[in-house]
Amino acid sequence: MIPLPEYKDRQHWNSVHPPLLPRKAKACDFCESVFNAKRSAHRSTDGYKRYCSNQCRFRAMDRGDEFQCLNCGSVFYMKKSKQDRRGPGGCCSKECRDVYYVGARCKGFRNGYVANARGEHMTLLPRQGYAGKYIGDHRLSAIKVIGRMLTRDEFVIRLDRNPEHNEPDNLFICCSNSEYSKRRSGSLPWPVKSNLMEYAATKGQP
Ligand SMILES: [Zn+2]
Ligand SMILES: [Zn+2]
Repeated sequence: MIPLPEYKDRQHWNSVHPPLLPRKAKACDFCESVFNAKRSAHRSTDGYKRYCSNQCRFRAMDRGDEFQCLNCGSVFYMKKSKQDRRGPGGCCSKECRDVYYVGARCKGFRNGYVANARGEHMTLLPRQGYAGKYIGDHRLSAIKVIGRMLTRDEFVIRLDRNPEHNEPDNLFICCSNSEYSKRRSGSLPWPVKSNLMEYAATKGQP
């Protein structure tokens, strides 16, 4: 049995087995920085590696493009496969995306209108102090007639109970949620005439 040679450390091993060809300083085919190239016959014209790193190798294989960020204006690189997946261009980062794609630029934006579960038409109107971003169109047309914002306590109901009829003469303002519950349950009569003009006459006072 042949005894296995004993190596003290890596330097000793290297001295016993010198490299067949020394490394060569050459420029990376992609980033053009000079690096110490190992031998490699793969797709190489001079017998040495072409790229300084795996990053450069992949970037050289990829046929991506550079785009300008729509939010911050910085130039960023997007791979071809990513362009196929989500379309070319856009923003450079998640932070920029979150800032840029709001309101009308948001993918889910439908001209600022939505219908809620009751079939009421809602309009986009972000307000200070309100978590919801939409306001019902019946409240919006009441606001236009009475000339001031409604308070949280004021409840707007429709005389014909049809969620699509938001004309001012079909609307009635209940001064509190309890008045609304009483009118709905029958303790108070359901109104037959709009009271918006009375509210408009007393502008400013809820
Ligand atoms: Zn490189
Ligand atoms: Zn950006």
